[in-house]
Amino acid sequence: MPKEGGPLVTGKKQKIVIIGGGMTGITSAFYLQDKIKKHQLPIEVKLIEASRSLGGKIQTINKDDFLIERGPSSFLEGKKGITKLIEKVGLKDQLIRSEREKLYVISNEKLYSIPEGAMIGIPTQLKPFIFTGLFSFFGKLRASADLIIPRSKEKSDISIGEFFRRRFGDEVVENLIEPLLSGIYAGDIDQLSLKSIFPQFYDAEKKYRSIILGSKNTTLYPGENVSDRFLTLRNGLQSLVEAIEEKLDADIVLKGHRVEKVEKSFNGGYEVLLNNGESLFADSVISALPHYLLPNLFSEYPFFEPLNNIPATSVATVAMAFSKNAVRNTLEGTGFVVARNSDYTINSCTFTHKKWPDFTPDGKVLFHSYIGRAGDETVVDLSDAEIEQIVLADLHKLMEITEKPDFTIVSRWKKAMPQYTIGHKERTRQLKEEVNKSLPGIFIVGSSFDGIGLPDCIDQGESVVEDVLHFLNLKGDNRIS
Ligand SMILES: Cc1cc2nc3c(=O)[nH]c(=O)nc-3n(C[C@H](O)[C@H](O)[C@H](O)COP(=O)(O)OP(=O)(O)OC[C@H]3O[C@@H](n4cnc5c(N)ncnc54)[C@H](O)[C@@H]3O)c2cc1C
Repeated sequence: MPKEGGPLVTGKKQKIVIIGGGMTGITSAFYLQDKIKKHQLPIEVKLIEASRSLGGKIQTINKDDFLIERGPSSFLEGKKGITKLIEKVGLKDQLIRSEREKLYVISNEKLYSIPEGAMIGIPTQLKPFIFTGLFSFFGKLRASADLIIPRSKEKSDISIGEFFRRRFGDEVVENLIEPLLSGIYAGDIDQLSLKSIFPQFYDAEKKYRSIILGSKNTTLYPGENVSDRFLTLRNGLQSLVEAIEEKLDADIVLKGHRVEKVEKSFNGGYEVLLNNGESLFADSVISALPHYLLPNLFSEYPFFEPLNNIPATSVATVAMAFSKNAVRNTLEGTGFVVARNSDYTINSCTFTHKKWPDFTPDGKVLFHSYIGRAGDETVVDLSDAEIEQIVLADLHKLMEITEKPDFTIVSRWKKAMPQYTIGHKERTRQLKEEVNKSLPGIFIVGSSFDGIGLPDCIDQGESVVEDVLHFLNLKGDNRIS
């Protein structure tokens, strides 16, 4: 008999279907194939992707010797899972490191350098905070109160905004923490969950009371030695997708097919129904899809319905290229973020020619702006020409631009940024528990659940492989007893 309730191995191959060929899904496919080959497991894997190409939100384009990322562009150095995957697919020598980040923040229409030691906006060193003009005297005094404010007795989840407002005051939150975080999460920090996004700060307060003092004793990213530098690949992140696809056996990947439903099969396992009317049998299914698609896919199971309440923000990236001499009074750093108290549409902008000089030909500059965030998404639906005008007008406030851009590429991402609102972690845990109970063998992963960044997606895609193999009771070998 199987050790832990998984189906019996009867000589025929067991079938795993992965739905969604974004970073999460392809990571699962890669590590599953790896295990199957290594341990000669009697398992067949199918990865089903609705579009004609793998990678999901990862899309790199080359235009006129520029390398442009339409979606994600980099990841923090020191994240282990992603660098391990890059090494495994033979791209280690393609890794490149960003120039040291020197960011500005626009607050109340004025431009300030971000004080040193302000990783994700949290003051970890006092001196640069004392000398910055970004905060008033009272704002600085209020921020330093973190050193004496007692621990919160709150045990339940609260918003990131509430937590940091209590520790550092509104000014630090609104002028610095909020613009930096909304550049990453496109969210409203007064809605986003502390325990899901920054559990380390919740823990640091419990342990050290003061976040400033605690940051000297603890890393902001527990368990990982993460630096403030970013990494990417010389030929863009799509080269990671391509390298993984090359390693996958051709019969694993089924592109251009959309999964419409997953139903229980009469003889155990599941039927995965495709848009062309075909269906695939699966002993186990990994869903690596955005959360809002699941209530339809599993329409017979009401416990998926709360996923309809998880907001997902629409954003757009706007890559704008110019000749170097068309831009005067250019800023020194690698980009800027914008506080909500300033009249800009751009949330943040990377000066790609400074951060990633290899991606821009000599004599050119490339501004990569982000627009759209929680409560401010309608701009994403404007035409390309309108968006170009709006972004140009914002850039004009900071620099003198004397010519039209050589080109502008607008990339819209609808409902692309899942918002981990207060209680997200607990809701995800409950959903997974329900799924485990009512739909054994179905596993739910992806950016909507346990981390939105590429490294988080890769970690989820890798660790679910262990869960599936454990369920199939084949972990490491194909014995079942
Ligand atoms: C503009 C932008 C910039 C970002 N920048 C960064 C960054 O710099 N660094 C970083 O770490 N993260 C960044 N992120 C976040 C990161 O890119 C995403 O969270 C991550 O790529 C999501 O991967 P995923 O596999 O979970 O989902 P997705 O990439 O959404 O993949 C899901 C896949 O499922 C497919 N699919 C959908 N429906 C079906 C169906 N019914 N049947 C079959 N297939 C289906 C889709 O076509 C898609 O390929 C950014 C995100 C955006 C939008």
